[in-house]
Formats: sequence, structure tokens, C-alpha cells
Amino acid sequence: MARKRIFQNEETSRDADGPEQELPEALSFSPIHTEDRELDEQLRPQQLEDVIGQRQVVDRLKVILDATRKRGDVLGHLLFDGPPGIGKTTLATVIPRELGVECQIAAGPVLDAPKDLLPYLTNAGHGSVLFIDEIHRLRPAVEEFLYPAMEDFRIDIALGEGLNARTINMQLKPFTVIGATTRAGLLTAPMRDRFVYREHLDFYELNDLTEIVQRNARKLKTTITLEAARAIAHRSQGTPRKANNILRRTRDFATLRHPEGEITTEITDYALNVLEIDPLGLEKQDRRYLQTVIDVFNGGPAGLTAIAHSMSIPPDTLEDDIEPFLLRSGLVQRTPRGRMITQKGYDHLGIKAGPNIGPLFK
Ligand code: ADP
Repeated sequence: MARKRIFQNEETSRDADGPEQELPEALSFSPIHTEDRELDEQLRPQQLEDVIGQRQVVDRLKVILDATRKRGDVLGHLLFDGPPGIGKTTLATVIPRELGVECQIAAGPVLDAPKDLLPYLTNAGHGSVLFIDEIHRLRPAVEEFLYPAMEDFRIDIALGEGLNARTINMQLKPFTVIGATTRAGLLTAPMRDRFVYREHLDFYELNDLTEIVQRNARKLKTTITLEAARAIAHRSQGTPRKANNILRRTRDFATLRHPEGEITTEITDYALNVLEIDPLGLEKQDRRYLQTVIDVFNGGPAGLTAIAHSMSIPPDTLEDDIEPFLLRSGLVQRTPRGRMITQKGYDHLGIKAGPNIGPLFK
């Protein structure tokens, strides 16, 4: 399979919260570390039947894939959206394997100009898949270049300048774009409309995450008790990538105790403590977010960019990596005037609510 490595660009993207502000260079960092990516690759399910949870999405995909195979057709363009680490890349890479077609991988932020997309399009074989991660971060010129490619499998290439300028048309082989985005809301309408299928991936249930931890423990050649797997699942914010990371770190503690050490609840509790992951699954950075809004903004309302500056973290990282779980857990609320810490958020930190907490947030 022809593969390009996925990586996240360090620049910030279109800010849903207002005009974008420049962040000092030192503040821009990729939230996914190299070792996380390596672990992702090592543990990623290879077949649809190995994909755990997301039952309804998987069932719908099976129908789509079966119908495509039966008709001998090319799969319609497909979009996955959902928080980071939830399985978008996993599903996107399982699909071409299921169909027995080639897969190329690109990432929105690194396609600077149409010419960067050109090799992917001209290399795309009949029925093959082009996976574009972070598709909401495609530059407008690249996006426009992609439209006719997706719609009519054709590209328009401009040659020369001024009076000599001309456009040549190039026919492509029918292929499938699978897009992944953490922010479906940032996709332009024409881009969104070109996807025949759209699937949203949500946080995982405890039982599914427990199964993922157990299966990945086996892949990592380590043993884990059911209680320990549940404890890890419980503190993983409903996200397989976080569960994998905690599993790996916990395994280190188990190995320190005994070279073939089993991961027990005792070791898991110890590791979670050292890793500063609290009973709700919040990490240090998540608690810092709550604390910052309380200390600096009196509990809110506060704008995303203002919080990001106070924390010295790019707004994108806050919005993609930190806020989804805080919002879903009801610790933070998004209002038209900005983010607010809820009563539950104050309670979680053991802080008495300030004057900004009205009955609405009780
Ligand atoms: P995303 O592309 O949404 O950021 P990934 O697909 O890279 O997330 O998932 C991160 C890791 O989590 C994968 O490498 C895999 O180990 C695990 N994972 C994600 N979804 C599933 C799933 N449904 N079943 C089993 N493991 C999963």
C-alpha cells in the first residue's frame, strides 16, 4: 500500500471563536507525539471485524462496502468526523483493505498548493482511496482544485501566464476521497456536499474501551486483569488513543515490578496517580484549563483565544484536544459570550463557585 505519513502541521487553523491571533512560535506544538503515532500504528485494527465499538457506524459501513463490492463500483466519497484519537484514521485505513484497493494518505495542512495534491490525484488508481486527514485545514486553492477531481474525476491545470496562459484538462481514474476532521463545522459547504457518506464518531462506552484495552494488552504481549482494564478504560475520556497511552505507561510500571508483570488494579492505580489522571479521567492540562478560567476569568465567560493565551497553548489544541471531553462531561459550557465553568466544574476542583455562576449553571 502506497502510504504517506500523517502528521499534524504546527500552525493554527481558522479560529471559530473570532479573528485568529499570532501565537509565539514556542507555543505551537503538535499535540500528538511521535511515540503516540508509533503506538497508534502498532495497535491499529487492520480489519473491520477488529474494530471495537462504534457499532452503528461499522454496520452502516458494512452495508456500503458490500453494496460497492456487489455493484463493482467505486466507493462514494466518505467523511469521518469526531475528536482526536477516536478511530477516524483506523476506519479510513481499514476500508481500502476491505475493498482490496490501494490507499494514499495525505494531511490537509501540508498540502500548501494544488501542485502538492497533483501527485496524489495522478497516482490514484481505479477505485483507490485517498485519505485526507484534517481535511478542514485544506487551503482554499487546494480545496477548489479538489472539487472537480471529486465530482468529475477531472482536474484543470493552468499553464503559462498572461497572453500565453491556457488551461488543460486532465481526466483521472475514478477514486474515493476519505476525509477526516475534528471540526466538521469548519468544513466549507461545497466541500461537505461532495461527500456522499458522512459518519460521526463519538466517545466510546466503558465496555468497548475495556475490550480495546484487553485486546491491545495482548498485542503488547502483556497480561492485564479485567478490573485493571476497566480502571484504565474508565479514565481514558472515552478515547482509545488515551486508553492505549495509559496502558503503555501502566505496563512500564508492571515491568519494573516484575519482568513479566501482570497489570493489576494496584499497579494501575499507582500509575494513574503518578500520571496525575484523576477519577474522571482529567489530565493535568484539563484541570489547568478549568483552573485558568476560574482564576483569570472568574469562571467565565471567556473567549477561546483569551484562554489559550493565558495557558500558552494554541487555541486549536484547546478546541480539539481539551474542550470536547470537558464539554461532554458538563464541566464547561459554551455560551454565545464564551466558555463558562459549570457548578460541576467547580465541584470537581473542590472550589467554591464564584458570583458568575447563575441558576442556569447549577
Ligand atoms: P483518529 O484518527 O480519530 O485521531 P486513530 O484512528 O488514529 O484516531 O485511533 C487511535 C488509536 O486508537 C488506534 O491506533 C487504535 O489503536 C485505537 N482505536 C481507535 N479506534 C478503535 C476501535 N474502534 N477499535 C479498536 N481500537 C481503536
